[in-house]
Amino acid sequence: MEITFWGVRGSIPAPGPETNRYGGNTSCVAVRSERGELVILDAGTGIVNLGKKMMTQEFGQGRGEATILLSHAHWDHIQGFPFFVPVLIVGNRFTIYGPSRSSGMLEGILEGQMNPHFSPLYTLKNMGAALEIHAVGDGETFEAGGLKVTGRLNPHGTTKALAYRIEEKSRSMVYASDCGYPASGPTPEVLSLYRGADVLVHDCTYTPEDRAERLGRGFSSIADAVGAACRAQVKRLVMFHYDQDYADEQIDAMGERTRHLLDESGGKNIKLTAAAEGLTLRL
Ligand SMILES: [Zn+2]
Repeated sequence: MEITFWGVRGSIPAPGPETNRYGGNTSCVAVRSERGELVILDAGTGIVNLGKKMMTQEFGQGRGEATILLSHAHWDHIQGFPFFVPVLIVGNRFTIYGPSRSSGMLEGILEGQMNPHFSPLYTLKNMGAALEIHAVGDGETFEAGGLKVTGRLNPHGTTKALAYRIEEKSRSMVYASDCGYPASGPTPEVLSLYRGADVLVHDCTYTPEDRAERLGRGFSSIADAVGAACRAQVKRLVMFHYDQDYADEQIDAMGERTRHLLDESGGKNIKLTAAAEGLTLRL
C-alpha cells in the first residue's frame, strides 16, 4: 500500500510563501493498493492536483476506476470535487462513500454544491464520469478497490465525521480527520478501529492552547492525537489537517512538541511524521 498526501490543511486553503513547505491545499490523501487500485480519502482542494496526475494515466482516456471515501461534507473535504478533471471524462467510474442516513441524502449533499448559485456545472449529472454514491453506517465494513475498509463515526462539532481503516493483507492505515473527542477521548469502538495500525493519519489542527480556545469547532490538538495513538498502540502517527493560520515554522515546532508528548506518554516506539503535500509513505 502506498499513501500520498495531496492536501494537508484544515478548514480553508492556505496558499502563500509561509505555507509552501507543508502546502496550502485542503484534505486529500491517495492510497494505492499493491495491485494498483486507487482509493482517495476526501476531496478537498488537494484532489485537483491529484486529478492532473491521474489524467496522465488511464483516467485521461476514460478508462479509469477509483473509490472516493469522504469523512464528511464540510467544504475543506469536498470543495476540490467540481475541479477534479477525471470526473468530467466520460468512461471513468467513481464510487463515492460518505457518512449519511441514506445514499440519496449523501447524493443530495454533493448535488448541493453543484447548484448554479455555487457552480457553473449546474448538477452532478453533468460530470461525465459514472458516479455511484453510497452512505456508510457507523461500524460498516465494505470492499473498495480490493481493499477492506471500515468506517467509524467521530464527533466533529455539531456534526460527525467518519474515520476509515483501510487494510491490505497484514497492512493497515487509518485516516481520522476532524475528530472533536470529548475529554474522555475516542470511544472504545473508535480505539479498536485505530488499534495497532501501521499508520494513523490523525487530525492535528491545533496546539493544546489553541484548541482550548476553540473547543466548539470539533477538532483535535496534537495532545489529542498523541492520546489516541498511544492508547491504540499504533506504529506511526502522521500529523494532518493543520489550521490554516499556522506557518511552516509553527508546524515544525508542533512536530517537535508532538515527539516530546509521545515520549512522555508511553509512545517512545511510535514513529512520527508531519504530513506535507507530495509526501509518500509505503507500507
Ligand atoms: Zn476539515
